[in-house]
Amino acid sequence: MAKRPHPNTLPLPPQVLTVACEWCTGAGIIIDRADVTVGVLCAGCEGRGSRQLTIQPFSGRRRIDGIKRVRRSGGGVWMSMNQLPRTGKTKPVGISYGDFLRDKLP
Ligand SMILES: [Zn+2]
Repeated sequence: MAKRPHPNTLPLPPQVLTVACEWCTGAGIIIDRADVTVGVLCAGCEGRGSRQLTIQPFSGRRRIDGIKRVRRSGGGVWMSMNQLPRTGKTKPVGISYGDFLRDKLP
């Protein structure tokens, strides 16, 4: 009897990896632009020079309950769903979540 390949149906556990901080590239400080002899404590790693990444194996997009529409980032401007600034008129923003899950992009 031939042995069938075992499908990998069990999710792999997340792996934690210590990497150099991408803000300070491992220095723990960033050079002060006003005085290059001064190091500013890196806000990305609080001076450690490293960060921990959790490597989560990807097996397809995780779905989020309650999401109806998907839009592009508004450049830091947050507005309520379907609300246009000033006019107050409503217009569907972006694309439906269903379209997004079918690999369309807003
Ligand atoms: Zn850093």
